[in-house]
Amino acid sequence: MVFGGVLSEKLGVKKKDFTEWFERVLFYSEIIDHRYPLKGVYVWRPFGMKLMKLLMDKMKKLMEKSGHEEAYFPLFSPISIFSKEAEFLKGFSGESLRVTRTGKRKLSEELVVRPTSETIMYYMFSLWIRSWRDLPLKIFQVVPIFRWETKMTKPLLRVREIVFFKEAHTAHETRQEADEQIKEAIKIYTEFFEWLGIPFILLKTPSWDTFAGAEYNYDFVTVLPDGKALELASVINLGQKFAKVFNIEFMDRNEEKRLVWQTCYGISERVLGAVVAIHGDDKGLVLPPDIAPVQVVVVPIPGKGVDEKIKKITSFLEGLRVVIDERDVRPGEKYYHWEAKGVPIRIEVGEKEVKKNFVTLARRDTGEKIKVEDSRIKKEIFRILSEIQKNISEKAKNGFAQFIKTAFSEEEAKKMIEKGGIVKIPWCGKDECGENLQEKLPGEALGFKDDEKPAEPCICGSESTTYLYFARCY
Ligand code: ZN
Repeated sequence: MVFGGVLSEKLGVKKKDFTEWFERVLFYSEIIDHRYPLKGVYVWRPFGMKLMKLLMDKMKKLMEKSGHEEAYFPLFSPISIFSKEAEFLKGFSGESLRVTRTGKRKLSEELVVRPTSETIMYYMFSLWIRSWRDLPLKIFQVVPIFRWETKMTKPLLRVREIVFFKEAHTAHETRQEADEQIKEAIKIYTEFFEWLGIPFILLKTPSWDTFAGAEYNYDFVTVLPDGKALELASVINLGQKFAKVFNIEFMDRNEEKRLVWQTCYGISERVLGAVVAIHGDDKGLVLPPDIAPVQVVVVPIPGKGVDEKIKKITSFLEGLRVVIDERDVRPGEKYYHWEAKGVPIRIEVGEKEVKKNFVTLARRDTGEKIKVEDSRIKKEIFRILSEIQKNISEKAKNGFAQFIKTAFSEEEAKKMIEKGGIVKIPWCGKDECGENLQEKLPGEALGFKDDEKPAEPCICGSESTTYLYFARCY
């Protein structure tokens, strides 16, 4: 760790050079180390692991509360299983890793290292599901997956080993129940992103870009400070495509054999990437208090009675994650260190504070310093923590709103997309028109909302039925 002014110079300026700032913050806050000699894979340091644990614990709670159960499925899939669904195979052919041998001999069957677990899980679903009584089946796991990208890799945002892939997979009796499940998944993810203060829009993916093997899917999309869009989560209705090829049948309530209806949805460490990118500043991380591995740091300014006072005030803070930084370095260096790690509140205690029965609190999000009487410390800390949560969410929301613009001509759209942010264009809803636009415009077609109706016509001249959203993407 580099301390003091040196550190803040090293992080750089977020607005000016986002990419460098982002990678430096991840490194100096000790979330990951990018120096491992393999492109696109990263070492997670203890601080990063703590962050992801707090984040995933919340997700697991939301999953379990809504009737999902955690399971574990193998990393390898025999190629015979993986290749059963043609579109799925095609969709992952380029970036899936294959294992063909050990050090000594060739394997009898090629193995696929999971790029996602549909085929692995659904083989087992076909063994488990017998009757309508076995439904709905709602399973999730948090595992690493591997997608050997050829595009430029970027820590947390575009990696080859996705370390924290939370994937949920469900099976249902009817099409209607699968549609309902999609709504539940959207509700869960909405709550999750709101909890993290990450603004997003929810878009239905255009049919030409739908997940391999799916009927339709929705994406949660946010924008990072450089104006590029980031897909945070996907919610996918698989219909009966996989049920057909894996023969996932059940005896229905009338004793008739039927195929199940399926959905799946996932998130990954990209979510933490968005938290870092959106809330952070030139001093480093700014964390929502709920996921801060350290919520309060106490920095002693050596003097008479300071240690005793710290003992007393930390006893008030039970239930919070508190660190007392007693290292033998200057207080100013300690401030930089904990600011880089995004600790929401710093408490300074010196002789002055001991004499007059107060402490000095510093807020990470605003930099504001507040004097608080000893008797009110507990109350004030909890109040400030919830205020920080509100403040950073609000700030992120305002920033996001400025990134969404509407264009009414191809020329205008081109210019806007190149400038950054998400640009929506009135659209007739026809595939060939959308694909044509996608070809002509920079960036990618992200999707559309189900409930928007522009007054202006589509660029092709026909009446528009919705807006098509475009952006340059991660
Ligand atoms: Zn059109």
